[in-house]
Amino acid sequence: MQIRTAKSAGFCYGVSRAVKKAEQALDEGKPVATLGPIIHNTDVVNAMQERGARIISKVSELKPGEYVVIRSHGVAKNIYDEIHALGNPVIDATCPYVKRIHDIVAEETAKGSFILIAGDEQHPEVQGIVGHCQQNFFVFKDKFVLKDFFQNLEKNFEKRLAIVSQTTYNSILWRDALKILPMQDFEITIYETICRATEERQTAAAELASQSDCMIVIGGKHSSNTVKLYDVCSRYCKTYHIENADELEILKLSDAEKIGITAGASTPAHIIKEVIFTMEENLNRSPETEEEIDFAQAI
Ligand code: SF4
Repeated sequence: MQIRTAKSAGFCYGVSRAVKKAEQALDEGKPVATLGPIIHNTDVVNAMQERGARIISKVSELKPGEYVVIRSHGVAKNIYDEIHALGNPVIDATCPYVKRIHDIVAEETAKGSFILIAGDEQHPEVQGIVGHCQQNFFVFKDKFVLKDFFQNLEKNFEKRLAIVSQTTYNSILWRDALKILPMQDFEITIYETICRATEERQTAAAELASQSDCMIVIGGKHSSNTVKLYDVCSRYCKTYHIENADELEILKLSDAEKIGITAGASTPAHIIKEVIFTMEENLNRSPETEEEIDFAQAI
């Protein structure tokens, strides 16, 4: 059995930055509350809670003087306003790539443009982006919904349009959406806002999946970028989505000769390593194992 990890896997810049900011505040003994779980990773979130961080779902749950951490997904403008009204100190860990989208949609809205947003309207990042558009937006999940939007547009619609995407939007779906934009009928400004970290991770996962019998995708069950990695890999081979090494036992890996491993943006390196080491242990325990595997190389 051969085990390989994708060239790009695990924590991205924005998530790593957010976790570091929250941990630094805890190191300094500050009372910390994160607005929602800091990342989609139960292990990391539990460890922070053990150190005293609270998870709140609404600004009104803040205690006086508590530092509120805005996670990498970012938040709507009214959330900043609510925090400022309460006077709590803010640790803004909004990823700079997400912040750029907030700035784009706010500027375009101020110029009078209508904003099209490719993404999942339930996702916190999209809800944050929407919250900088002043009710002047349409969220679509794919080209079919976008097509319906233009078909149902009122005849007298004369606004300029600007189009952005959620940073973790699928690049294939994005290109499909751009192809159906009626550029001849409207003035539309296209902003490329898919994060390269996501694209690189998806490309590396697809490349590895195409050379593997089976893929293991490590990451939170609610992490949208991990679920997308799972979708990408599933196109090529049998794919499993696990959160950590504890779930390895229930996977059927015995028929696979080449196993690929990748991980979502909120998966810390130690969890990836633990999965690989657990696989090593399981294999070494198996009587059918004939070859020793160089796991140091696999990592
Ligand atoms: S995936 Fe990209 S945009 Fe999202 S947090 Fe990470 S670096 Fe930022």
